[in-house]
Amino acid sequence: MTPSEQHKAGDLLFLKRLNRSAILDMVRRTPGMTRADIAIKARLTKATVGTGVQTLLEGGWVIEGELQKSGGGRPGRALLLNDQYHALIGAEVGVHGLRLVACSLTGGIIHQEHLHLIPGSPEATAAILAEQLRDLLHHPEVASRHCLGLGVALPGPISPSQPILRLAPNLGWHDVPFLDLLHQHLPELEGLWLMDNEAKSAAFGELYFRTGTVPSSLAYVSAGTGIGSGVVENSQSPLVTRGAQGLAGEIGHTVLQPGGLYCHCGNRGCAETLVSGWSIRAALGIAEEDDLHAAVRRRLHEADVGVTLRRAGEALGTMLLNLHHTLNPSEIVLGGSLTQLGAPLLDPAMDYFEANQHRLLGTQQRVQLRIVEDSTYIAARGAAAQVLAQAIHQAGDVPATE
Ligand SMILES: [Zn+2]
Repeated sequence: MTPSEQHKAGDLLFLKRLNRSAILDMVRRTPGMTRADIAIKARLTKATVGTGVQTLLEGGWVIEGELQKSGGGRPGRALLLNDQYHALIGAEVGVHGLRLVACSLTGGIIHQEHLHLIPGSPEATAAILAEQLRDLLHHPEVASRHCLGLGVALPGPISPSQPILRLAPNLGWHDVPFLDLLHQHLPELEGLWLMDNEAKSAAFGELYFRTGTVPSSLAYVSAGTGIGSGVVENSQSPLVTRGAQGLAGEIGHTVLQPGGLYCHCGNRGCAETLVSGWSIRAALGIAEEDDLHAAVRRRLHEADVGVTLRRAGEALGTMLLNLHHTLNPSEIVLGGSLTQLGAPLLDPAMDYFEANQHRLLGTQQRVQLRIVEDSTYIAARGAAAQVLAQAIHQAGDVPATE
């Protein structure tokens, strides 16, 4: 082959891969499309779609379903993501434990593990997580699948330019190349490796694994030991808002009370000093080792517990309103362990948000706000979603055979 022929062949391969990614993404967004539907929507020839679908079928990415009638033409088979062949691995390092999931392509959890522990050094935590991941990979339902890679969610801002955890204020970690530490213990885990902030991963998963009506943007607020948020814009390839230093969404460190109490970050009066797992523990004298939810429930009859939760709830409502007015996401999802504190915390938050969210425009239009009661695996599952997104949109990993 001459150099120009080689170039042409390279272009063709690239085009084929691009077409396959586009077809796969359409089936992901709208399960049940036929080859003819895809050809019209993607403006590809039927032959191109046919070849692309065939490769995706052989690669275990899609399956054929029922025969569907199509407008005027011959009926075609519905195409759906193949839930049985691949596995996406997601993990979250939290301030109180490690959470691991193996997901299918549609976000179904194949297997999950939750290990309660207070992480020590990054090195020790990476070694423990690697052991847990190895067990997960050997689980029969996971081991029988082809692993696409691993996403790790971490409790702090990640550098936008390199895989480094800049800071985990509630673990005391600074500038940690966590994936490198983990990889030393787990070289056998093949595929894509990525890491992100836990609220950003959760936001991504909440949007990416949804089919049908998908919000144009979604914010996930993670209210746990600390408070963070992640915002995802739905586009061809959904995009997480990061900011120049990865700080976008760090709403726990927006100041609600100038000159107030000192925060773990060193500033005064951050939202976290009013509403966070750590500030509620400090206000009520609940030790780090004790279960916050159980300790609060035992003492709900005490007046100061009610007052602390109401004030924390009002601060949460203020923070949600500030988020609404700063980024105006079309949907807000509230999760994290604090949601388990229930009405004494959440009612004042929702009341404040509901009473004030429409004031600026004076319309009755409401932002959808959803509370997730059990968000144990939401960030780990979101990190798994990020692996799939990278496989489809960036890595060109959509199957190898030509
Ligand atoms: Zn702070």
